[in-house]
Amino acid sequence: PYEGPDFDKIRSIRANHLNPALFTYYKTPLLIHQGHMQWLFDHNGVRYLDLFGGIVTVSVGHCHPKVNEATKKQLDKVWHTTNIYLHPKIHEYAERLVATLPGDLKVVYFVNSGSEANDLAMMMARMYTGCYDLISFRNAYHGMSPATNGLTAHSTWRFNIAGNFGIHQTMNADPYRGEWGGKHCRDSPVQTTRSCNCSPGQCVASGKYVDQLEEVLRYSAPKGRVGGFFAESIQGVGGTVQYPKGFLKSAFKLIRNYGGVCIADEVSPVQTGFGRTGEHFWGFEGHDAIPDIVTMAKGMGNGYPMAAVVTTPAIAKTMSAALHFNTFGGNPVASTVGMAVLDAIEADQTQANCRDVGTYFLLELAKLRDEFPNLVGDVRGKGLMIGVELVSDPETRAPLAPADVLAIWEQCKDMGVLYGKGGFFGNVFRIKPPMCITKSDVDFAVAVLRKSIASFLEK
Ligand code: PMP
Repeated sequence: PYEGPDFDKIRSIRANHLNPALFTYYKTPLLIHQGHMQWLFDHNGVRYLDLFGGIVTVSVGHCHPKVNEATKKQLDKVWHTTNIYLHPKIHEYAERLVATLPGDLKVVYFVNSGSEANDLAMMMARMYTGCYDLISFRNAYHGMSPATNGLTAHSTWRFNIAGNFGIHQTMNADPYRGEWGGKHCRDSPVQTTRSCNCSPGQCVASGKYVDQLEEVLRYSAPKGRVGGFFAESIQGVGGTVQYPKGFLKSAFKLIRNYGGVCIADEVSPVQTGFGRTGEHFWGFEGHDAIPDIVTMAKGMGNGYPMAAVVTTPAIAKTMSAALHFNTFGGNPVASTVGMAVLDAIEADQTQANCRDVGTYFLLELAKLRDEFPNLVGDVRGKGLMIGVELVSDPETRAPLAPADVLAIWEQCKDMGVLYGKGGFFGNVFRIKPPMCITKSDVDFAVAVLRKSIASFLEK
């Protein structure tokens, strides 16, 4: 049974003593008591299907038995060594983690959060190239630290500070909402209903967005050189936005022509990494592109705070210009958790589950889109990284008003399904559940969404 302070007391502590900008989901926020795999239980014992995994942080399942068992064992041995001594776990884990990555991505820096990982990646790009200027997308989310806040291009998350000095944003390569793109552009089992000038093998939109990137470089890169380019493999916070096919590969090539390095932000992957997209272990592999630096966090620890940057030996070498140290990064407990997550991914075959259940989910949602074409503007994604965009007009793609999105979303919660929410206009249902969900969970989730939409439309 729940033994914490009662609901009202919790709310009063939050109102008086926690960060006032910390928002809560739902009119009556959930007071979570327990989690098991894809399920969360509130203080009254009510069970919810968790389709958002604590913002994509729970990868193999809440309190996964094997991860918990391994962690408990380590907790009784030693928690912390600060890496000034040797400990086997960080070494075993580093070797295991880099083995999942292609090319020359061989050197790991362990840190503690996604923002910290991207901070370090920014420094690496600048140190290695000797160039200060960096590029990210409009609609990107790369973190909340003063440095990464400049890369993040959602005004809702941005502070009025000098963090964006030397950072330029390029047009978002979004085939649904962007200037170009449509039917043939995405690498997803579900395409947009928007028509476009592309043909299946030839994406016109991709080239147009690359031209935009080149224009940013041409006008803004001092002496024709740039430090680096940050891209989420599929945009997470921005509403599960997928770039047109071939875009990222060409963009990486262009950036390298300007002397820059390419950074794949796979933090969100878990929004896109660790097998979530089904076909590949890493999201960027779906773009047939290999970055110079990869950042990761969230699901790598299944909810335990840990993160990493992986790069090439050449880039790591330039980072030896000063001592580099991180107190908690790669501590024995974190490394144990990380290894146990990799074990669970293998043992539970979660990557195959993401592919099979994710594809089923996408196709079921596409049926829903066809049933409610005036409200469900777009269904997109790959594996278990899915977005459902709600609109008030399918032709203009005008976003559904926030209050209407909330009405549908709250009802889903009342029926026992926790959908995520995001996108610049807050009108995208984000689906990134623990990777263990089943087809019958999908049937339940889609039935609930169908009922919520139908009752909203009846009003
Ligand atoms: N990059 C991406 C793509 C993210 O989605 C996030 C978190 N939503 C971050 C970086 C920042 O991670 P953290 O909150 O751990 O600092």
